[in-house]
Amino acid sequence: MSHDITDVLERVLQRNPGEPEFHQAVHEVFESLAPVVQRRPEYLEQGVLERLCEPERQIIFRVPWVDDAGRVQVNRGFRVQYNSALGPYKGGLRFHPSVNLGIVKFLGFEQIFKNALTGMPIGGGKGGSDFDPRGRSDGEVMRFCQSFMMELHNHIGQYTDVPAGDIGVGAREIGYLFGQYRRITNAYEAGVLTGKGLAWGGSRARTEATGYGAVLFAQEMLRTRGESVDGRRVSVSGSGNVAIYAIEKAQQLGAHVVAFSDSSGYVVDEDGVDLDLLREVKEERRGRVADYVEARSSASLGTSGTIWDVDCDVAVPCATQNELDADGAAALVRSGVVAVAEGANMPTTRDAVAVLREAGVLFGPGKAANAGGVATSALEMQQNASRDSWTHEYTVDRLTAIMERIHATCLESAESYGDPGNYVLGANAAGFTKVADAMIAQGVI
Ligand code: GLU
Repeated sequence: MSHDITDVLERVLQRNPGEPEFHQAVHEVFESLAPVVQRRPEYLEQGVLERLCEPERQIIFRVPWVDDAGRVQVNRGFRVQYNSALGPYKGGLRFHPSVNLGIVKFLGFEQIFKNALTGMPIGGGKGGSDFDPRGRSDGEVMRFCQSFMMELHNHIGQYTDVPAGDIGVGAREIGYLFGQYRRITNAYEAGVLTGKGLAWGGSRARTEATGYGAVLFAQEMLRTRGESVDGRRVSVSGSGNVAIYAIEKAQQLGAHVVAFSDSSGYVVDEDGVDLDLLREVKEERRGRVADYVEARSSASLGTSGTIWDVDCDVAVPCATQNELDADGAAALVRSGVVAVAEGANMPTTRDAVAVLREAGVLFGPGKAANAGGVATSALEMQQNASRDSWTHEYTVDRLTAIMERIHATCLESAESYGDPGNYVLGANAAGFTKVADAMIAQGVI
């Protein structure tokens, strides 16, 4: 790393103490940028790196609500409006007890480059709360969402900031949030949130998009070696929205999906995952993976280690950050894994990425591999702006073309910096360059 970049990195880390995930995300991007600033010194001269690391705005607010027992509960809400050089801030809301400012900043920072890679006119942002929807009634979730929007509505809008879902925020939560926004503003501003229901401004294929996109990205990576997902053993960690549709797409492409997980453990199913059953357990019953095993004789609960100890050719981590560590990566390499595509945001630790790349495994970073979700959100915004509604087939075709283009962009970018096949470098360099050029063109703001 050149001396100047190291200085900027040092300043950024010092300015943001106690935020390990944010530090990790910044480190990972900066590692790719040395050859980029060597080629384009104006990025350093004009302070682009340092400006990019400092969010344009950070909003933290109190979210009081009343639970079913009549007790007052207090949570903390966040929205980090990171960078709007390419378009309105865009990124999900995460409701999970682990949410804090550092987590939201790491996610928002990643989102800037991911959104740039989609080629759509969207900036980067992220938000959420430490509220835990697990075990809460629909009424409690609704009251929480209404209170959350009571403050958030001041800061968002179709031309300003367009939130969507992430962990803990699905169609139900987006519905309650949209209803409250509409009530407060007395305007049907469909483009203010994405991930809406189909009857009220949502896009077909948005629910499927992140998981589908991650597997399409894996397919593209395999294609560079004349291979395919077809007939491969695939492990997909997680069992939420991203994982379910990653499994669906992998199966459509002829893969044999043998494992999935949730925070309570992992499941091995040698007959191939029964997606209808998994959907019923997770989406309808909001149950745990043990409920799947109970209903299916070919499945068993993992008794030792992690899901990465299950033999597979392709791994798609779709649960959460840092779920795949160096030991997990070493286990995958031992089982002969060929490709890893990140469906979640930063699920692979930096050490684990090094282990995989050292072993010659195709590695698709989340910024590229999971960009299908936010790209389809941008398609939803497009449909809202033109008061249109596209067919499923057309929308999936658009998504597929976007994923192919992101893959090609990463490949070309890595190659132009003399490291062919390095998707981490390719994604970081291409995403960064697009945002940096827009920032320079728009002056020091
Ligand atoms: N939360 C998703 C992501 O990490 C989607 C964001 C969006 O659709 O705005 O990219």
